[in-house]
Amino acid sequence: MPSPAHFGAIEAGGSKFVCAVGTPDGKLLHRIRIPTTTPAETLPQVAAFFRSHGEDLTAIGIGSFGPIEMDRSSPRYGFITSTPKPGWSQCDLLGIVRKALGVPVAFDTDVNAAARAEARWGTARGLRSFMYVTVGTGIGAAAMIDKSILQGLSHPEMGHIRIPHDLTRDPFAGICPYHGDCLEGLASGPAIAARWKTSPAALPPEHSAWTLEAEYLALACVNWISTLVPERVIFGGGVMRPNIFPIMRSRVRTLLNSYIDLPELTGDLGSYLVPSTLEPDAGVLGALVLALQVAGLS
Ligand code: ZN
Repeated sequence: MPSPAHFGAIEAGGSKFVCAVGTPDGKLLHRIRIPTTTPAETLPQVAAFFRSHGEDLTAIGIGSFGPIEMDRSSPRYGFITSTPKPGWSQCDLLGIVRKALGVPVAFDTDVNAAARAEARWGTARGLRSFMYVTVGTGIGAAAMIDKSILQGLSHPEMGHIRIPHDLTRDPFAGICPYHGDCLEGLASGPAIAARWKTSPAALPPEHSAWTLEAEYLALACVNWISTLVPERVIFGGGVMRPNIFPIMRSRVRTLLNSYIDLPELTGDLGSYLVPSTLEPDAGVLGALVLALQVAGLS
């Protein structure tokens, strides 16, 4: 019996797969980044990594970009479904990994996975309800309510909500291929890059782009908070940076206007709207949590 047991974690992203071998205490022993090109190119490299590092793997967890099929009774359970990413639409990601490596495999969205990591090792430890929001290439959000990940017919798509769009202040049309100026269409990293014609990383902290970004995230937060009233909202993803938080907190407080009369929502929101402490590893740690759960260790 190897000690400690080793588990595989796959954060399957639209631009890269992060694969790691980890232990039940959240320690990542080996990891690799593999470009997301086509399933035929990327997935054999994923299998080769685990074969070379984890011959005693107990289970594997996959947190995947989506949309994905989450219904266990569906013949397409574990598939990436309608993605515009070439080659990946209707890809049986779960089935291919399970067949290649021959161990139990758990499957969830990348955002749900990251939320599970926040609950186990991050800023949401001990909470019964919270939201995890990632703002990067896209915008995704997961909610844990009464210690369960919120799930309807499929996983929530809280990044695609509609928010007020003041065309006088921001005439940018938005880039979501499905909705134009939904939240993701206005406030994701590619939306910022298209609006300001430069990478978000190149925009200085004092640039008005960040005030606008904080406004859009605040409007979304008010909708999410009014719907779920979580105990905390945690933000990750490559777009988030420290200067967004004070502006966003101030706008959320103003917009909520003390209607929800709780100390968490009427103070400075400094411990309510918070950055992830697990970044940039929240996704891959979440995949590790999935592996632990399928092995009965959670
Ligand atoms: Zn959209």
